Amino acid sequence: MQTPYSHLIDLNDYPVTWWNKVVKLGAEIYQHPQRYVQACAGKIMATLFYEPSTRTQMSFQSAMIRLGGSIIGFDNPMSSSVSKGENLKDTTKVVSSYSDILIIRHPMAGSALAAAQTADCSVVNAGDGGHLHPTQTLTDLLTLHMEKGRLGHLTVGLCGDLLYGRTVHSLCKALSCYEGNEFVLISTPELQMPDYILKILDQSGCTYRVETSLDTAIGELDVLYMTRIQRERFASEAEYLAQRDVYCLTPEKMAHARPDLAVLHPLPRVDEISVAVDADARALYFKQAQYGMYIRMALILMLLESKPKHDLLHGIADAHLRCVNSKCITATESYLPHRFLQTDDGMVCEYCEERVL
Ligand code: ASP
Repeated sequence: MQTPYSHLIDLNDYPVTWWNKVVKLGAEIYQHPQRYVQACAGKIMATLFYEPSTRTQMSFQSAMIRLGGSIIGFDNPMSSSVSKGENLKDTTKVVSSYSDILIIRHPMAGSALAAAQTADCSVVNAGDGGHLHPTQTLTDLLTLHMEKGRLGHLTVGLCGDLLYGRTVHSLCKALSCYEGNEFVLISTPELQMPDYILKILDQSGCTYRVETSLDTAIGELDVLYMTRIQRERFASEAEYLAQRDVYCLTPEKMAHARPDLAVLHPLPRVDEISVAVDADARALYFKQAQYGMYIRMALILMLLESKPKHDLLHGIADAHLRCVNSKCITATESYLPHRFLQTDDGMVCEYCEERVL
């Protein structure tokens, strides 16, 4: 079930040297966009968005258009055959046969890995449930490269919904691969970073500390990455309401921050950054969204030009093991082969990385 295409499912499937190449190309395209206007002439990109999106979807679309290519796709699965009960495998199989690269966002963890198993073109994970969001991380890396001039030796505060926020999971995994980064994980006890990310930080040798107060931490940060409370991933509205409004970045708080702090946010903002902060030169989130288009131009070029990869699933099959995560793609797409990876901590599902033993 393995396909000979280059996919981006998880940034960690590639070496850091590859990420650096994408970032370098993104910076070059940002500086000289006119050199790339025909780079994808004749190519088609499909966007399958099973979940709402503004920036990710439109930045991918405008990236392809600026490269001279064309776009197809849906952003409301209910207007496609998904509404008639079509599974992910069939939709992917068909749409990938029309296109050269397929961008997928889906509410279930591991969905991009599932789609890549049947696709006849490159697949990019544009967000798989609360799991990962690698192209947001590439956006964040380009932003830090352009605005801070480095990807290591940064003190990075991540604030808000660290439990369900896929952007902070991907970003932590990536920044832990650069030397000298320190993390301050600012959240309520209920929305702390998942254990598997803390394990990755432990193994990387990066230092981190768990913090509940933004006021305490803000003065020591080079980067403050604010996040939205992920309402759609809570079991009940009451649980969401208990977490809403806990953190809000205001001009008063910014007064205690370093003069060269970079405030990032993957957007959409709800109420975790006061609009009054937008006028502060350290508020970089709108610029960050624009860098997202340039890095996606670079990514499309790199994937379309790269050599095929054949090794999609690495885990073992075990007839007695099943993933118990109800938010894992294997819970809804029953034909998928179940695969498990052995970690120091026990077996984890290869799709969603949840522990099974
Ligand atoms: N746009 C980001 C995402 O798709 C962040 C968010 O929705 O809060 O994960």
